[in-house]
Amino acid sequence: MNQGGKYDSVTIKQLSANSVQRSQALAGEKISVDSRTRALLRQLPSVDELLQEPSIREMVQTLPRWAVVEAIREVLERRRRMIAKGPPGATSSSDLPSRAALVTEAQQIAARLSGPALRHLINATGVVIHTNLGRAPLAEAAIERVVEAARGYSNLEYDLEGGDRGSRQDHVERLLCRLTGAEAALAVNNNAAAVLLAINTLAEGKEVIVSRGELVEIGDSFRIPDIMRRAGGILREVGTTNRTYLRDYEDAVGATSAMLLKVHTSNFRIQGFANQVSVAELASLGEKAGLPVVEDVGSGALVDLSQLGLSKEPMPSESIRAGADLVTFSGDKLLGGPQAGLIAGKRLLVERLRRNPLARAVRIDKLSLAALEATLRLYLDEGRALAHVPVLRALVMPLQEIERRARHLRDRIAALASGHLEVSIIEGTSEVGGGALPLEAIPTRLVAVQGVHLTAPVLEGRLRRTDPPVMVRIKDDRIVLDPRTVSEDELDTLANLVTSVAVPKKADS
Ligand SMILES: *Cc1c(COP(=O)(O)O)cnc(C)c1O
Repeated sequence: MNQGGKYDSVTIKQLSANSVQRSQALAGEKISVDSRTRALLRQLPSVDELLQEPSIREMVQTLPRWAVVEAIREVLERRRRMIAKGPPGATSSSDLPSRAALVTEAQQIAARLSGPALRHLINATGVVIHTNLGRAPLAEAAIERVVEAARGYSNLEYDLEGGDRGSRQDHVERLLCRLTGAEAALAVNNNAAAVLLAINTLAEGKEVIVSRGELVEIGDSFRIPDIMRRAGGILREVGTTNRTYLRDYEDAVGATSAMLLKVHTSNFRIQGFANQVSVAELASLGEKAGLPVVEDVGSGALVDLSQLGLSKEPMPSESIRAGADLVTFSGDKLLGGPQAGLIAGKRLLVERLRRNPLARAVRIDKLSLAALEATLRLYLDEGRALAHVPVLRALVMPLQEIERRARHLRDRIAALASGHLEVSIIEGTSEVGGGALPLEAIPTRLVAVQGVHLTAPVLEGRLRRTDPPVMVRIKDDRIVLDPRTVSEDELDTLANLVTSVAVPKKADS
């Protein structure tokens, strides 16, 4: 214990000595610190001094010491930066924070540091598959299986019948085949890995023919040309951005061709004077030329969304039926399962992918596998999938249900925040998100909340710091809550949190 304490104080002293320079380096700016500023900086307490404050000593009883020390450092660092960045000579000692303010701030930071960094939050944005917010919430059945697989040992790679080594793929392959109509299937870490593995296995050092209209970027790091290069394939672009014909592919086929790749333009649409070649046409060309046809359908809906009042998203089963040799898709987009990349298609090709050493590098972990199996099982009966997969439930939630939730929210907020907030229900739209159906605006009802004394950005910022945090949208200087993505048992918590940030506290002034 003693030694730990000593170690801490040495580190702290070194840090304090360098912290002004460090803050400047962090801010990436050159700041000339004049003598007055320097005098102000010297008036700030040291880490050791703050550690002696009674309320801080109390804090160390309940929070880990390392978190308290780190929080104090961060608070002082912030203050030094504020002082050093102010215009030279303009700062006065009245700008110096009180000890109490420093302690309160440190307390908040220490609490945050000692709690989990990856946290549950309430998604009131109405974006159903929000990549930044963790994409698909899992079905209860999947959650149960994850917990079970996490808690103990399992037959992950053991064949209980034969008493021999098994493959982790055995737990999902049959399900994937049944749901896509493919002969064989493979689950990997995510769809980016699935595409990488397919290109690397089938086309390393050779040409992959792709339409210029399908050279997509998904999120900020998945770009077809980049993945192609990393996978060792040589991109052979054909056609134009808006129009590509079968003859463009035909003209490009040659001795160095290894694969025809079709990529779903998940997060954008080319409309108007446009043409893309269908999988069926590519499949017939592939057959003639002896080239495998791979389609990355992106989201990969396992139920036909057009029957549910939404626009069509490509289905893996349709791609297989149309003649694709392999189809790849995500586990945590419209499928509503865990992060995973799913590959389905011809047995010989799937076997080649499995034998690629990269397959090991991108293999799916047991927790995702447990969730994936449970999610896929729900899809064996479409009705069960629609009733239990949260992403699907949210997408097909009847407007009456949304309205009921919206009224519940509105009434509760109005009752709790009398005088501080104006609440109403307005019409609006929800988004699918996750790079699927980018043009789809699903009608919804929004609970619009306006602060009597607070602007929407202030309310939004405070809601990000509640426990649990709440994510909202801002519309016409009001925050809006979309009940579509808020679960039934989060409604009251949400109403309480929204109210809590609008009721003035002494510390806010
Ligand atoms: C989302 C998407 C990917 C990436 O999938 P991840 O599972 O996020 O790795 C690849 N291709 C398309 C067409 C996509 O829509």
